[in-house]
Amino acid sequence: MIKPIHIINETILQVKVPLPFPLRWVNGYVVRSRSGWTLIDPGLHTPEAEELWNRVMEEHDLPPTALESIVLTHHHPDHYGLSGWFQERSGAPVHLSAVGREQTKALWGEGETMSAKLLELFRAHGMDEPTLEQMAEHMKGFLPQVSPQPQLTTIEPDQPFRIGDRTYRPIVTPGHAAGHLCFYDEERSELFCGDHVLPQITPNVGYLPGFDDNPLRSYLRSLDDVSRLAVDVAYPGHREPFRTFGERAREIVRHHEERLAAMEAKLDSAPTSYAMCRALFGDRLSIHQLRFALSETIAHLIHLRDEGRIRETSDGGTIRYVRK
Ligand SMILES: [Zn+2]
Ligand SMILES: [Zn+2]
Repeated sequence: MIKPIHIINETILQVKVPLPFPLRWVNGYVVRSRSGWTLIDPGLHTPEAEELWNRVMEEHDLPPTALESIVLTHHHPDHYGLSGWFQERSGAPVHLSAVGREQTKALWGEGETMSAKLLELFRAHGMDEPTLEQMAEHMKGFLPQVSPQPQLTTIEPDQPFRIGDRTYRPIVTPGHAAGHLCFYDEERSELFCGDHVLPQITPNVGYLPGFDDNPLRSYLRSLDDVSRLAVDVAYPGHREPFRTFGERAREIVRHHEERLAAMEAKLDSAPTSYAMCRALFGDRLSIHQLRFALSETIAHLIHLRDEGRIRETSDGGTIRYVRK
């Protein structure tokens, strides 16, 4: 059993909000100010998470009425999900990037079309019909975990942004999610890095129709950018705060270079993204894991194509890749 509440210092509290996935928890950070508190990435909306937050607010003297601001590094359900629940209780603004806001509308807004587009994408990349049916069922399941949905206020990248009593720079770091932001306190060399760089886990970089034509290219570029920042402590979205930020960012770049080379080598026996995904990740993935594994494989093959290392062909509606 993990201890869910960790007092980092007199202003920052790390709360490990439970997740019903292998990731196990997402970090919500409470930042105290002289006049109240700010919440970064409140977590997925589940009964267990609600219960934990009620306990945290009670035990740590954090009344909802003193919640000044809710800040999101990105729109993924495990970060965004509870923001509306907190807004209902506090009236606090929920801050997210403009691109993040567009994605919440595309994924969970009125008349959303993303599930249909994603299923079309997976079909074109070789997924079989029985698996597509399971995937369609799976995609319907997320809405309760991001409801109620908040009114969003847009964050201007690179403009001074207040969290607690300090000023941060929101840095655009696309790749894991389009519109992802890290929040940098230059004076203290501290960074809230969301899921851009994680210790131990390699953040998923998946292709989502309509937002970024080549998310892996964006990711490798933004990793390169942030690896140059002076960072003493990074506060990530998952696992524990860590001190090896630049090193970890460079390690993740190398991981993707190896992955790209491995895919290039397997191309003859696995010419579609779906076959490649099965060849690399095996047959034992849950439908949830398969969704991310396939999006990730597609992102890598698109990047190899854009780099001119492989060629894309289409036959009978199925996208295949061949060596140059
Ligand atoms: Zn994420
Ligand atoms: Zn996450």
